[in-house]
Amino acid sequence: MSELAQLKSFNKITSDSFHQQKNFIKKVLSGRITQCPDCGQTLKINMSNTKEQSTIRCANQCTDIELDCS
Ligand SMILES: [Zn+2]
Repeated sequence: MSELAQLKSFNKITSDSFHQQKNFIKKVLSGRITQCPDCGQTLKINMSNTKEQSTIRCANQCTDIELDCS
């Protein structure tokens, strides 16, 4: 595989997982997903009123997503 092809496939993976994460966040916020897909623990949505990022986390923190509130 050429370097350019490697770069392209890397970009595609990143973009796919970016969209997957956006989708995942949407489903969690709408209540369609309530458990961590990795460990099955309940996901906790931490909505922050301060400058701190709001987060979605599970007890084991294998899910640890910062929400982009901008
Ligand atoms: Zn987990």
